Order: sequence, then C-alpha cells, then structure tokens
Amino acid sequence: MTTDSTTSPVRAVYVHVPFCIHRCGYCDFTVIAGRDDLIGDYLNALERELAGKLTHPLPVDTLFLGGGTPSYLSPNDMQQLFERLQRWFPLTAGGEFSMECNPDGLTSDRMAVMKGAGVNRVSLGVQSLHPEHLLTLERSHSAEGVEDVVTRLRDHGFTNISFDLIFGVPQQSVSQWETTLRAAVALQPNHISTYGLTFEKGTPFWTRLQRNQIHPVAEEAERDMYELAMSLLPEAGYPQYELSNFAQPDYECRHNQVYWRAEPFYGIGPGAAEFLQTTRRRNHRSVTVWIERLKQGASPVQEVDELDADLLAREAVMVGLRQTRGIPLAQFHERYGVTVRDLAPESYESCLAKGWLEEVDQHVRLTFAGRFLADTVMAEFF
Ligand code: SF4
Repeated sequence: MTTDSTTSPVRAVYVHVPFCIHRCGYCDFTVIAGRDDLIGDYLNALERELAGKLTHPLPVDTLFLGGGTPSYLSPNDMQQLFERLQRWFPLTAGGEFSMECNPDGLTSDRMAVMKGAGVNRVSLGVQSLHPEHLLTLERSHSAEGVEDVVTRLRDHGFTNISFDLIFGVPQQSVSQWETTLRAAVALQPNHISTYGLTFEKGTPFWTRLQRNQIHPVAEEAERDMYELAMSLLPEAGYPQYELSNFAQPDYECRHNQVYWRAEPFYGIGPGAAEFLQTTRRRNHRSVTVWIERLKQGASPVQEVDELDADLLAREAVMVGLRQTRGIPLAQFHERYGVTVRDLAPESYESCLAKGWLEEVDQHVRLTFAGRFLADTVMAEFF
C-alpha cells in the first residue's frame, strides 16, 4: 500500500463557532444560545487549543468557519477570532476562506470586518424563502431579508455566495419547494446546498414527532423534492457535484471536497472533528466542558478512533461516492492497495446490476437512481 493517505500534508481547517441567537427546533449541531457571557472564554480557549495543537503557524488552502452562527459574533469578537486564526492558520494565496452566516444580523459592519480578514466565501443559512416554512423552522429572517443581505454582500465585494436550503419541511408541498428553489436561483448565488429535514433524537422536533404534534412530509414527496432539485438546479446553471451540493462552474466548495476525498484536516472548537493520518478525533460537544478542559490545560478531545487500512479504504468509499463524478478507480487502488470492488465484491456487482452504481471514465459512481439510495449502497461496503 502506498502511504499518501496517511502522510499527505494538512491543508484544511474547520473551526466551530457554537453561538446562536436561539436554538432552532430541528438543530442537532453543537450550539449554545443565550450564553453570550461565554464568548470571551471561547476565544481564550480557542487560542489555547491552537497553541496546543501547533508548534508553528501552518499555511492552509481552505479555512471553514462553521457553527452555530459565526456571524453572530460582534465585529470586535469576530476580529479577535480572525486574528487568532490568521496567526496560526495563514491562508495561502488563492485560498478559500468560508464562513457560515445567518441572514439575520449580518450587518454591514460585520461584513466589513469579514472582508478585511479575507473571508471570500459566504455560506448563508437561507433554509427557505417561504414565510410559513421559515416560521416552522423557527428561523428569524424573512425572504426579503435574504435579498437585502445578498445585495449588501455584493456591495461589500463578496463574489462567492452559497445558500443552504432545506426541503421536507412539515406542510411543504413539492410546488412550494419549487417556488423556493426558483426564488433562490433568481438571487443568483454561486452555490446551493439542499438538505432534507431530519428529526434527530434529542431535538424539540424529535419530541414533537413522538407526540404526534408535527408531521414529516410523505417519503414520496420528499423523494420528489430531491429529484426536483437534481433536475431544476443543473438546468439553471448549477451542476450537481455532490449528493447535496450544486454549484456554478468553478464555485464548488473546495473545503468540503477535502472531506469527500478523505484528505486530512484539522478541527478546532467544541464538537469539531478532525482527521489526521489514520486518526479521527472529536472534541467534547459541550461548550462549557470544552472551555473548562482547555482552561485547565487538559485535552478537549472526547473521542479518538484509530482507523486501520481496511477501515480507511471503506470510509473513503463512503465519502467518495457522495461526489457525482465518483471515485477514481486507479487512484483509489494505488492509495489504499485494494480496489473498490474488492472491498465488497458481491455487493459491488449487485449494485452495478441493479443500476445503482456505474463505472464511467475510470470512476465508479452512483447513478441518478442510486443517489436516492446512497445510504443503502454505502452500507454495502461495511
Ligand atoms: S441557526 Fe443553525 S446552528 Fe444555530 S440553532 Fe439554528 S440551525 Fe442550529
């Protein structure tokens, strides 16, 4: 086995900013609301985590600030966060610096600080452009607010804007989803991500589901919504490049491609995961525990998984199949010392025969039909 899967240099970092104005009912992320008093401690803990992880600054090609709501930080706190990151993870020339923002509260002074710090990709949590669905999702912005933010972002010189959209919102019809998609396209973001709403255990939505107080859309309608996104968006100039992601040419998210190619990345902040060489680590999800551990000079890591060669290869299949172009067969073999087929020969053949997988241009990929069954196909490799 060649070793580039375990020795390739780290060129990407994810930083988790957990603060939000409130917790949306469906949210399963590492989030804290109503605790702005912790922001100073968070910034200090972040500095400790960075200093404990690196002995010297590491230039990176992609930096991704996710949350939570990174744009919830005041301009001053944001500035402090950026200064810490620039000190430890300077961005290489032409690098991608993404930041997740909520349309609500994305003021012009925040935009100015972001621009000054080199943020060059803004991922907006739009979720819907339909007033009732925004209400159901407990989002505080309006469709008009999104339009205003997009205009102001462009005025501030941001030329790479992405929208996150959610389908399968309770009471949502396929035609309403189409209206949201078309309204999104009309605003001409450069990239669109679409996610089916999930009801995760522990969230208020999950509790309401158990109590029969909220009703998911029918499975068939959800399938139709996904299919609609996969036909409408490419026709509108956003080819699909991953199961949930669509982009204008050259606007694919470079940072997320690091995950799908099973390349290494650092993860900083509460709940953040990282993948280095053969080890995956996840920080403690509790913001206060994460802060406290770092304050005491202890490790913020809660989980560590050591992956053997077999598991590295299987996980690479799982993430690699998310990309519409699929997995390059020869490169995979060279990197993992095993072919994709050899990992699960019978399943591989059966998925090909059923028309869920196909081999095209020296790649294996999910077919259009296979994308609806992605979880089932991926599970065949474990
Ligand atoms: S804004 Fe996003 S991260 Fe924050 S609570 Fe809502 S869904 Fe979760």
